[in-house]
Amino acid sequence: MGYQMSTVEFNNVISKLLLDYRILAPVCLEGKGTFSGTDLVTYGDIERIQDVVFDRKTVYSAKEAVFPPSETMFYFTEEEFKQPSVDQKGILVFARPCDINAFKRLDAIYLESGPYPDPYYLQLREKLKFVLMECDHGFKNCFCASMGTNETSDFSLLVRSEGDQIFCLINDTGFEDLISESLASNSIRKVDLQPGFVQRNKTRLQIPDKLDNSLFSHPLWQEYASRCTGCGRCNFSCPTCSCFTMQDLFYRDNPSCGERRRVWASCMIEGYTEMAGGQEVRKTQGERMRFKVMHKFSDFKKRFGFHMCVGCGRCDDVCPEYISLPRCVQKLQEIKNGGVR
Ligand code: SF4
Ligand code: SF4
Repeated sequence: MGYQMSTVEFNNVISKLLLDYRILAPVCLEGKGTFSGTDLVTYGDIERIQDVVFDRKTVYSAKEAVFPPSETMFYFTEEEFKQPSVDQKGILVFARPCDINAFKRLDAIYLESGPYPDPYYLQLREKLKFVLMECDHGFKNCFCASMGTNETSDFSLLVRSEGDQIFCLINDTGFEDLISESLASNSIRKVDLQPGFVQRNKTRLQIPDKLDNSLFSHPLWQEYASRCTGCGRCNFSCPTCSCFTMQDLFYRDNPSCGERRRVWASCMIEGYTEMAGGQEVRKTQGERMRFKVMHKFSDFKKRFGFHMCVGCGRCDDVCPEYISLPRCVQKLQEIKNGGVR
């Protein structure tokens, strides 16, 4: 069932939701952009619908809701260790279809990769529900339609903002009471509402069927050895990159106590594959780019049956060297067709 109401009325709904949920949505952090005088659109906590940025793509994704950039796994002393307590509230995330589909990729990695689900991911994932934000057009660099991630039915609410009016579709009976309580006393109207999904993007991609090992030594990768600076921005902005490293932190005032954290890691950064003894598996940026592309467009699918990349285009948006992931995949397709040598 769909409803139309004013922003004031919807903020009353948000106030009720905040009793049981933390609400994360795209917000604008003024002056925090990469360059001086620019803003950063990213995920943050909201308390009113006016704080949500509906018309711009976020630089970072919503993955931090279940996979924080830095997460304490346990606190330790010489004698014992203790896991941090978790906020009992649920988590509501405003997300676009590609980003909701990205959680399916994270679920595969953290819950289905081995014999046991990752308990830290699971405890947050079980609390997560989505508020669908529609895209009225494909943003720059998006190629979700090519990846089949432009649509989703996995959402509890749909929220559309038009001027001072909010349109809300309830797709989860658990949220019906919230609106129906408000219906009698306010001017909330029932309306027909269907989610709209982007069907075409400017960037279109044909993904090669089989990316086999014959491509490993192709000179294509050398181009990235010189262009890529290994900054890791593409990984940190990606909704499906999920690598982490471990850090033990010893407190200065009592060095026998501390905490173990896992923090985001990047396969594009020097040292990522370094092992004991100093051996490094992938030494050049070309090899690192090859690994990233093969993982996103070949190896992951072999294991889980669908591609890891959801076509959000964030890696292209943030790369300081204007390296384009879909262009790289396109070149691979041309190589397979015999067009690039
Ligand atoms: S690889 Fe790039 S386009 Fe694909 S999901 Fe990650 S950031 Fe988005
Ligand atoms: S953002 Fe660009 S330059 Fe930085 S690691 Fe990724 S591909 Fe390389």
